[in-house]
Amino acid sequence: MNNFSLLILPGDGIGPEVMKQVVRVIDWFEQRREILFDVEEDLVGGCAYDKYGTPLSDLTMKKAKSVDAVLLGAVGGPTYEKLDFDKQPERGLLRLRKEMDLYANLRPAQCFDALADFSSLKKDIVSGLDIMIVRELTSGIYFGEPRGIEGQGENRVGINTTRYTTDEIRRVARSAFELARKRNNMLCSMEKANVMESGVLWREEVKYVHENEYPDVKLSHMYADAGAMQLVRWPKQFDVIVTDNLFGDILSDCAAMLTGSLGMLPSASIGSKMESGLPKALYEPVHGSAPDIAGLGEANPCACILSFAMALRYSFSKRDEATLLEKAVQNVLAEGYRTKDLMQASDGKLVSTFEMGDAIINNLEKMR
Ligand code: NAD
Repeated sequence: MNNFSLLILPGDGIGPEVMKQVVRVIDWFEQRREILFDVEEDLVGGCAYDKYGTPLSDLTMKKAKSVDAVLLGAVGGPTYEKLDFDKQPERGLLRLRKEMDLYANLRPAQCFDALADFSSLKKDIVSGLDIMIVRELTSGIYFGEPRGIEGQGENRVGINTTRYTTDEIRRVARSAFELARKRNNMLCSMEKANVMESGVLWREEVKYVHENEYPDVKLSHMYADAGAMQLVRWPKQFDVIVTDNLFGDILSDCAAMLTGSLGMLPSASIGSKMESGLPKALYEPVHGSAPDIAGLGEANPCACILSFAMALRYSFSKRDEATLLEKAVQNVLAEGYRTKDLMQASDGKLVSTFEMGDAIINNLEKMR
């Protein structure tokens, strides 16, 4: 079998620290499971600006488009805050998402039992929670025209436009239906069809894709405001949720908090299929570069490691291996290993970034 090609972009702050642990995990899968990768490492964000004068060089962009999957750490930091807008570290990330046309953002909200106390909700509401939010990422109100601030003085008007085409809705719906099929076969679509025409079209097109391509998946619809209430009332009623860019931005952050810590949250952004048959894909933890703890060896590598588990599942179709890696993370948490961010609400053994990586690899070794 051919090797999978992987571009690793550790980025800034804690990005390189957590990514080091992912590289150890990748080595483990190469040695013990014979899943072979051609790994190349490159720069994105502030470190790319320092070296190339831009947060993402054209060459790095080209590489990102040619590999099977991109794995990113985090970008940004106080040193770069005063740079011109187009030189800011985040522009590197946005360029990657835009030029790879990654239209489906997958944000799992999974509550590990050992961390259920972390949630702001009651333990029985979140314990065992495992849902996936699919957010449309490349269209909608953040991109729609016309936009801007018009007028002068006391008569200014701020304008943004929610605009969705049939094709944009259908393709993200298909991603969500595919995911539902790999999980518990349930999809809930959220919009505001009661007050927005773009919501009416959204609902019609999701129904169309359902009837014509995925009639086996159980589909429901909810207004996004009601969906937000249901997410905090009884989140376990959901399996996969699909929604637009704006609602997805808010609902996925809300769902993330159900699970507690930022250091535990992975994500994937997926685009259309490449010639190889694999989807264009970028995997990254939800957290940022955490400049307040960068260099201290305290960062939690789990979000980045779980992002690699998502790559195993969604890019490389290695479902068993993805489950094995997720189980290893779950086991070490159950055994009480805690990076500093996880010590706040529960007892446990305080470990460094490297020691957490060690514990996960030892656990993989035990389950081998
Ligand atoms: P942040 O996610 O970097 O940090 C928020 C808080 O969570 C901090 O206290 C941090 O120490 C903690 N934290 C985050 N990840 C952690 C981990 N893995 N282990 C332990 N603790 C962790 O968000 P911020 O402070 O708002 O932003 C810092 C920088 O990161 C900014 O420059 C911002 O623009 C950038 N940022 C980048 C991304 C990205 O690369 N995708 C996302 C968000 C923010």
